[in-house]
Amino acid sequence: MKIIALPAFADNYIWLLHDGGRALVVDPGDAQPVLQALQRDGLHLAAILVTHHHPDHTGGVQALREATGAAVYGPARERIPAPFTALKDGDIVTVLDIAWKVIDVPGHTAGHIAFFAQDIEGAPLLFCGDTLFSGGCGRLFEGTPAQMLASLDTLAALPGTTRVCCTHEYTLSNLRFARAVEPANQALIHYETECRALRERQMPTLPSTLSVERQINPFLRTRERTVKQAVQDWQSTADDEIAVFAALRQWKNEFK
Ligand code: ZN
Ligand code: FE
Repeated sequence: MKIIALPAFADNYIWLLHDGGRALVVDPGDAQPVLQALQRDGLHLAAILVTHHHPDHTGGVQALREATGAAVYGPARERIPAPFTALKDGDIVTVLDIAWKVIDVPGHTAGHIAFFAQDIEGAPLLFCGDTLFSGGCGRLFEGTPAQMLASLDTLAALPGTTRVCCTHEYTLSNLRFARAVEPANQALIHYETECRALRERQMPTLPSTLSVERQINPFLRTRERTVKQAVQDWQSTADDEIAVFAALRQWKNEFK
């Protein structure tokens, strides 16, 4: 199995997974980079997985379906280009002989889903769309802070070796904010140095892993004393864990 991040637009990645013959893609906002990769590597597109309805994740679905006949899988509670197999929490879909578990992760959008595979050549793999980013999380366009916190808790509880395939290259700007929250976090300082070096060579910082994210991502660390204190210094009224999470998200929105 090969896993490739195809760059699209300014900072999207369309994830392409293939076994040398058959391929799947996740969140193809644009058909062009996918069609080029399929042709270059001589691949047949078997399936398209969609995490949520935003155009930068669905814009290429119709053209790819027409060009390849690929089956489309997406969130039951959102409008994406039909026809597609509608998925909800706990469903298992088999694509490329891999069992993908569907996890509901509302927050960024109301019906956002993630796809999790237990073992692809020795380690789990997660396609989490715009819910979890390296060093950050998606904006709350349709969901509440309580929903997003619960969604991130669910993802954070997956095995630490899980490779996290996010849909945007936001890592460096997320880490700049993370450093403002936790200036003394050594793992964060070390990780930022690694990510800077990757970006200088135009390489993706992704996939990340859940064990790294649990150490460096403030949105997975809102119950840590350091993070909670920093948030309360910014907004003194943030008392319970949902209020702390909401204030942290607000702080990030306003951070320059
Ligand atoms: Zn989105
Ligand atoms: Fe997006």
